[in-house]
Amino acid sequence: MKKWVYFFGAGKAEGDGKWRDLLGGKGAGLAEMTKIGLPVPAGFTISTETCDYYYKNDMKYPSELAKQVKENVAKLEKVTKKKLGDPKNPLLVSVRSGSARSMPGMMETILNLGLNDKSVEGLAKATRNERFAYDAYRRFVQMYSTVVMGLSKEDLEHRLRAMKDRLGKRLDTEVPASGWKELVQVYKAYFKEKSRQDFPEDPMEQLWGAIGAVFGSWMAEKAVTYRRVEKITGLHGTAVNVVQMVFGNTGDNSGTGVCFTRDPSTGQAVFYGDYLTNAQGEDVVAGIRTPVHLTELKKAMPKVYAQLEKVRQKLEKHYKDMQDMEFTVEDGTLYMLQTRTGKRTPAAAFKMAVDMVNEKLITKEEAMLRIKPEDIERLFYPVIDPKVDRKSLESKIFGRGIDAVPGAAVGKAVFSAADAEEWSKRGEKVILVRRETSPEDVGGMAVAQGILTATGGKTSHAAVVARGWGKCCIVGAETLDISYRNKTITASKNGKVVKEGDWLTLDGGEGTVYAEPLQLVTPELPKAYQTFMKWADEIRKIGVRTNADTPQDARKAVEFGAEGIGLVRTEHMFFTDFEFPEKGQERQRAIQEMIVADNKEARVKALDKLLPFQRRDFLGIFKVMNGMPVTIRLIDPPLHEFVPHDHEKQAELAKDLGVSVETVARRVDQLHEANPMLGHRGCRLAITYPEILDMQVRAIIEAAIECVKAKIPVLPEIMIPLTLDKKEMSILDQQTRKVADDLIKQAGVKLHYLVGTMVELPRAALLADEIAEVAEFFSFGTNDLTQTVMGLSRDDAGRFLPDYVDEKKTGIFHGDPFQTLDQQGVGMLIEWGIEKGRKVRPKLEIGICGEHGGDADSVKFCHRVGLDYVSASPFRVPIARLAAAQAVVEEKQAKTKKKK
Ligand code: PEP
Ligand code: MG
Repeated sequence: MKKWVYFFGAGKAEGDGKWRDLLGGKGAGLAEMTKIGLPVPAGFTISTETCDYYYKNDMKYPSELAKQVKENVAKLEKVTKKKLGDPKNPLLVSVRSGSARSMPGMMETILNLGLNDKSVEGLAKATRNERFAYDAYRRFVQMYSTVVMGLSKEDLEHRLRAMKDRLGKRLDTEVPASGWKELVQVYKAYFKEKSRQDFPEDPMEQLWGAIGAVFGSWMAEKAVTYRRVEKITGLHGTAVNVVQMVFGNTGDNSGTGVCFTRDPSTGQAVFYGDYLTNAQGEDVVAGIRTPVHLTELKKAMPKVYAQLEKVRQKLEKHYKDMQDMEFTVEDGTLYMLQTRTGKRTPAAAFKMAVDMVNEKLITKEEAMLRIKPEDIERLFYPVIDPKVDRKSLESKIFGRGIDAVPGAAVGKAVFSAADAEEWSKRGEKVILVRRETSPEDVGGMAVAQGILTATGGKTSHAAVVARGWGKCCIVGAETLDISYRNKTITASKNGKVVKEGDWLTLDGGEGTVYAEPLQLVTPELPKAYQTFMKWADEIRKIGVRTNADTPQDARKAVEFGAEGIGLVRTEHMFFTDFEFPEKGQERQRAIQEMIVADNKEARVKALDKLLPFQRRDFLGIFKVMNGMPVTIRLIDPPLHEFVPHDHEKQAELAKDLGVSVETVARRVDQLHEANPMLGHRGCRLAITYPEILDMQVRAIIEAAIECVKAKIPVLPEIMIPLTLDKKEMSILDQQTRKVADDLIKQAGVKLHYLVGTMVELPRAALLADEIAEVAEFFSFGTNDLTQTVMGLSRDDAGRFLPDYVDEKKTGIFHGDPFQTLDQQGVGMLIEWGIEKGRKVRPKLEIGICGEHGGDADSVKFCHRVGLDYVSASPFRVPIARLAAAQAVVEEKQAKTKKKK
């Protein structure tokens, strides 16, 4: 017979702390604490497998469950020497949820279960405290009504207030037994009115109601959302913990508290916590009364405090991590109700990890697993001040979108890039609001505090560019209707309107938009960070480069620990001049002239204008990188994005170029493609217009020669984009080498460079062996590879991907494949490409430069399949370094586990 229920009590437990998957965090913690001899009330845990069974079987329980619950109740009654529903000395239990990953406040709890009109009298007698007994009873009826039956909390609160008014009492503590007695009857009448049944008196019926409510809460909206936001996947469900109640509210010799073995906000190794005298756990959580610091407990009950301090030391040694504990003191006796790994601020996480290594509590390798990628992100980006109340924040949300780049930003809404530039010149802080962005908007994006778009996904233009700068960005906010004409955003939910100049706050980490200015704070980099990252670098095997398009970005990335550049997107260099912003316009015109040119001569003339700009950019980047590899991709622009589409702008361009507006309009028309992402892109352009490649290679090599002459080490890697065929690659390779070698020869210098390709198309991956005969390196462009393998447009899929990821709706994908690599499908092609490529060229250098290079799970995959490096946008370089180290540790752990 399958076991669904696990008992703990009287020093023994059927399970331990490692059984988190089966017993949930809370259940496993209770079992473990029981086993190591801590004072824990007895109880039993209904496993997470039961929850899984329940949802897989049309909300039915396994047939053996009823019997096992009954047996465990009997066992509990024996151990506690009390009986459920006993009119003399009743056993009361709490019923709580608890999954393998902590989800604070997301699921349900019911306390004081087992009370009814008879047993409440027993409790009153046993405790010699009628007031206490009826207070417990009304709390139970209240919780049962709201949690199990879903009745309105407000309606009940309203009845509570009415009773207090009638009695002329202000505080709950002033209410006499008779008041609670009366309230129980009022609550029960309400219960009957709303649910058309009597409040259950039978404790077993109450228990089954509570069990059902806990399982039900697993799929409640807020829990599902929490899992999505926290990227919690692959769990069976929640467990149900039924535990003997102990009371912190029997008088001044009782109380309840929450404590941490170290300070969760600073990481300091001090005992930290709150305590409330004469109170039940929910009073602490609900924040109705203000708790006092633990030191007060030390004064009031020194013995209990000393015992608690011992528990603190024992638990931290035992778990080798900071613990978050709940305890209750009942008439001077200490009970531990829960222990779990404590949540902490990112700064505290670093401090604790480094301190614990120095204290020899954990190894450097174990420390690697103590930091989450989000912890790193939160170190560098401004965030909404944690002091802003989370609940009120929730009610202020104006709209939601896809969390493309974390951090928060405050500014006034503007609706065009030009306005963004103009307003910010006046010293205004702005948020650039667009339906979508294109390269033309780059200037406005650069000056904006944050970017909000109505369409697009995580690899859309706005997201990729903003990520490169570490600039807060929300894309795909489909519920916000953006009107360029009226310069307004209208929330489809409630019709609320934000006009030009109104304040907006974006939370890029959550994807939430607020229509007011909120207070932001920028965290300080903790000292432990540098030490920790040095350890990560010692442990990791895979290289970490960066995607950077300007010397400024490159410098930032080197500060973040990049060991080279894995991708310079040269087309991003055409729109702004980061060194001399006034030259931006000149550059734009030159590239537009090149695109609009309808013969080679005109094109070459335009290219000649671009050459000095590009050469200067490359020189700047080479200098910053000082001999580290710099992978420069030849131009890959969807051409139509680079030309103006409205008449006014076309007229301006025509005037500047000295051609008729009709000529410009005709050319723009000619360039129009039904499917530009699969259009005249990448190296197809260089095949059609070889002079573009000539100019770019010349700019790269001339800049490199200048470095060599100035004795600055330099290592250019010239990368051909979107290659789909060996012959195509070979034509471009030969052309590249011809331009480069001629220049090197003329200059009479020694310069080593590589020519390689991006692998962004299934055909290139499939025929990687052929392509590797020519290419000296590969870089997987997983943005395009995901798009082409899955047949999902990276720019548009954001509209429907949420349905694919939504656990409740379909749960087809665990996450957005443009963010976290689809290891099964796209990953299979990558593995194939690596194997084929290295067969032909064993030392073939292989990296990845799609957005996945900065995603922790994807980096781990890259480590496993043997890539040489990952390349991530500057702000994600530290995440990649951490994930690469974690990959090594996790691999080792998996091997030891297998051996065992
Ligand atoms: C890619 O496709 O993964 C890539 C890095 O190129 P881009 O995003 O510029 O298309
Ligand atoms: Mg690409």
